[in-house]
Amino acid sequence: MSDPVPNASIEQLGEIFRNHDSFVIMSHVRPDGDAIGSQIGLGFALMAAGKKVRLINEDGLPENLAFLPGSEKIETPPAEPLDVEVAIALDTATKPRLGDNVLHAASKAKVLLNIDHHISNPSYGDLNLIDSHSPATGQIIYNIITALGLPLPAESRDAIYVAVSTDTGSFQYPSTTAATYEMAADLIRRGLDVGTINSKTYDDHPYRRVELMRALLNTLQLSPDGKVASWELKDSTRLELDLRPEDSEGLIDIIRAIRGVRVAAFFEELPDGKIRVSMRSKDKSVDVCKIAMQFGGGGHSLAAGIRMAGPIGEARAKVLAAVEQAI
Ligand code: 5GP
Ligand code: MN
Repeated sequence: MSDPVPNASIEQLGEIFRNHDSFVIMSHVRPDGDAIGSQIGLGFALMAAGKKVRLINEDGLPENLAFLPGSEKIETPPAEPLDVEVAIALDTATKPRLGDNVLHAASKAKVLLNIDHHISNPSYGDLNLIDSHSPATGQIIYNIITALGLPLPAESRDAIYVAVSTDTGSFQYPSTTAATYEMAADLIRRGLDVGTINSKTYDDHPYRRVELMRALLNTLQLSPDGKVASWELKDSTRLELDLRPEDSEGLIDIIRAIRGVRVAAFFEELPDGKIRVSMRSKDKSVDVCKIAMQFGGGGHSLAAGIRMAGPIGEARAKVLAAVEQAI
């Protein structure tokens, strides 16, 4: 193991922001609330400070986050590299998870900033701010904006709240701290409409998501000792129900919540034949990030993922064997 790369200070990031005019802000493929929310949060703060900012994501804006003011600024990467001085990767545990087209679009930037909360992040930026104690990248963005005295426009306020809310299971996971609630309180004082934003985040699903739930329940398996629950999604089901990647967001929490279950796992056949694995642990002594890393994945100790070779039955058997081993 090489020595850990020291983090940049917020003041060093502030210097980069002050000394440059043009920025491209990026996040991981199949973006979730924390990825998109962090992009909008930092992006609109820098724009309000007079900077030129582009927000790009390999897969564009998921439909379930289109209610966020400012989300229309999220673009898929242009074919030609952008003329920007600084590239900023947010919430992205490894550089390849930004996506090939995003990396090409950002290739002319002179400086790469890497801001993230994944413990497995290898600090691939020129400057890195990795805070694995932060429950969401959105909370790091809030700390940066407030510490530097950057503007916090309404777009940033709402996006940061959704970033942190979605990555903490609505402020419930053990990673949630007093600072997280203090941040939420401050955002509410700054005018955030709690009822409306939570309703748009959690009570406005397309019907096909419930049909997906029915299909997943038909594949549900519980290990004989009751400690491991898993289900799977075949690509044929995606086609049949006309699913979008974000439709399965958060559904794993249903099987994670089963009494006695310590690890929940979700297996999804992707269009390219690869298998996406999503894992959640309810037990601090079972680190699903370590299990994911055995297969080239990563994440956090209680929430991690993998992309691995199929077929889906084999992937499920291999990963579940590693989970049983870890338990
Ligand atoms: P989710 O299960 O919600 O897709 O991901 C849970 C966590 O694991 C997230 O923090 C995510 O960044 C990480 N993760 C998910 N899939 C992968 C993967 O294929 N590789 C790595 N390195 N991390 C992943
Ligand atoms: Mn995150």
